[in-house]
Formats: sequence, structure tokens, C-alpha cells
Amino acid sequence: MERLIIHVDMDAFYASVEIRDNVELRGKPVIVGAMPDQRGVVATCSYEARRYGVRSGMNIKEAYRLCPEGVYLRPDFDKYRRVSQQLHGIWDPYATASEPIALDETFLDVTGTARDFDDASRIAHEIKRRTADEMGLTCSVGLAYCKAAAKTASEEIKPDGYYEIRTREEFVELMRDRDVRELFSVGPKTADRLYGMGIRTVGEIAEHRLDVESALGKHGRVLIDLSEGIDDREVVPYNPEDAKSISREITFQKDVSDYSLLIDVILLLAMSVEERASRYGLCGTTVNLKITYSDMRSVVKSRNGLRNRDAVSIARMAWDMLLKLPRRPVRLIGVGISGISDGRTRQTTLLEICGEAPSEDELDHYLERMRRKYRFDFVRNREWMLRKNTIHGVVEHMRIQRSRSPSGIERR
Ligand SMILES: [Mg+2]
Repeated sequence: MERLIIHVDMDAFYASVEIRDNVELRGKPVIVGAMPDQRGVVATCSYEARRYGVRSGMNIKEAYRLCPEGVYLRPDFDKYRRVSQQLHGIWDPYATASEPIALDETFLDVTGTARDFDDASRIAHEIKRRTADEMGLTCSVGLAYCKAAAKTASEEIKPDGYYEIRTREEFVELMRDRDVRELFSVGPKTADRLYGMGIRTVGEIAEHRLDVESALGKHGRVLIDLSEGIDDREVVPYNPEDAKSISREITFQKDVSDYSLLIDVILLLAMSVEERASRYGLCGTTVNLKITYSDMRSVVKSRNGLRNRDAVSIARMAWDMLLKLPRRPVRLIGVGISGISDGRTRQTTLLEICGEAPSEDELDHYLERMRRKYRFDFVRNREWMLRKNTIHGVVEHMRIQRSRSPSGIERR
């Protein structure tokens, strides 16, 4: 059956909220994130700041070099969460399911609420109009027959854009000559591998399907489908407020007895948990560690008292619990936080973006040590590495490196 999916994406969300709430900021390059004299990155910046070349995710010192006259603000996540809830109050009634991707982005399944594509288009425009009228904020909206195409559509015209992709054929036509990086789920690493095979455009992916499949496996097949406009993923309703816990776990290809490897894997899992928690502006007070041994017996340990949401604080509590457990070969390891609330305290809400976490240096230190130990650049590959499908591959690489090294237990 034909599906009707809308993707709404707020324009320069944090910066737009700050500008809306303070007229003096209007027309100025506004940069929300770390302060220029601190460590950290740009969270969001206004379109005026983008004209100077400032981008989200950019090191704050680099942003300052490009735009010293910018207005630098710390993020106020409590406020953005409140605004996000109000936005969902407008958007969600139009859909049978709403799946937030971040505080400022959501997929809406309007298949059951719109009569046809034209009606869905009317809904999309109403969402844009009401978001502007009632919230004083602009968004870009994409309407399409599947999620990947809806997301692509919302990115076509920004800010304050609307774009629709009605059919697979339209999607294929639109994307054919574009760089592979424009395809959903293609990060820098995957792009490099595709370039290495002589594939530069989306259209060339399907032309080289055998190469792509053998080089990239399952992800390769997903990419081939996407390049042909096929994406059957459902819009999964998710309300971060309902989330009782955030966790990430890994099953090793071979059981692991090397506890120094487990310690490092815990840090990666903690980084992944931190990333997800901060994306939704959530924090927890309890750290959970789950271990399944080679005999399939599982233990779950919990400890209260997590004060910061950063990876090192989470990992440190998990390490403590691990070291008190019996040492036996491990099949699965998981790290999570629970006791979730919406980052109320200033300390936790500012952590991730404003690298003011006391443990930020410590994280760098650990990652540098791991870089040498596993011959893998965890800092440079951070974003890519933490994705659900890639973290397994990275951990496997680590396990294999350890089993080859003279100090690795499996070698003995
Ligand atoms: Mg956005």
C-alpha cells in the first residue's frame, strides 16, 4: 500500500529559539554551543553564522576564527525540550505515529490520516504555517512515500522549505547524479569505500551492485535498496519521556576472557549511551551493567549515584561493577542508564556540547591510549563508530587486534 510520510526538521533550532526570544540577536551570527575559550563544539548556528562558514559540529575555536564577531551562547536544553514538546503538540495529532529523531526533527506517518498525496501535502503546509504562527519558528518539511525519501525531501530546500517526492521513480531521478554522501546512512567512511570502488554517484551504486554487496555486506544491500528508492522502515512511535532506560549491548563473535578489552568496550558503549541520552536531552541516575557469560548465564548489576551523563562517569561506575564480578569468558556485555529524567540540572544539560565536563580530558586520554592499543582512531571516527551497525564492527576489530597481540589472553 502507498504510504504517506512527512519529515519535519526545524531550521537551526537552538539558534532560532534564542533569536526568537531575544530581539537583539535578530540578524546576527548566533552560535550556540561551547564558549570560544573552552573546549567543545558548535551545537547549532544561525544562517547568518553559516555565511561565515560556521557549521554545527565544528570545533568552537575554529568557529571563532571564522566568525569572531559572532554571538556565542550556551545551550539551554530545558528550554529546547519545552519548545520541542510544544512542537509535538502541534504536529503529532496530524499523524497515526510520530517518531522523533532529535529534539527538532520527527517523522510523521500520515497514511491513515490523509486521504491522498494532495491531502498530505495540505497537512504538511498546515504544519509549516502553524509552526510559524504559533511558535514563531520555521521548519523545513518533506513529504514522500517512504522515510528516506521524506528526509531527503526536507533537506532539499532549507530554511523554511517544502519539497515532495511522490514516487520511487522521482526519488531515483532526483538522486541519480548526486554524490553518494547525499544518500541516507552514507557517512564519510562508507563514502570513502564507495569512492575507492570508483562509485561517486548514487546512480552508480546500483550499477555496481555486486561490488557494493561484497564490500559492504548487509549495509551494502541497504544502500542498493536506498539508491533505488526502496525503504520499508516503519515510522515507530517513540516518546523519549516514556523511556525508562537507554542501553547499548554487544555480543562478541567469540567469547572474551581479556578483561582489558572489556574495559575498553565498556567505554565505547558508555559513549554511545551518552550520545543517545544527549540527543534527547535526557539523563539518568543509575548505571546498569549486563554480562552474559559463555554458559549463557546473565548478571545485571546496577548502581545509583550517576551525577554526570558523560561517558567517562558512566564507564567508571560500570568498570567498578565489572571488576567485582567473577572472571569468566564473556559472550555479551551491555551498558545502560536508567532513572531517566529530562536533564533538569544545569550540570548535566550542558555537558555534552560544552565540553566543560571535568572528564573530557580523561576521555581523550583513554581514547588516545586505545588508538595505540588497537590501531584505530576512535576520536576521528567517533560519530561513525557509535552507530548501531558499526559499533559491532569496531569492537570486532578490537577483539581481533587483542587476540593477535602478545599480551592478548586468547593467544596464550
Ligand atoms: Mg534541524
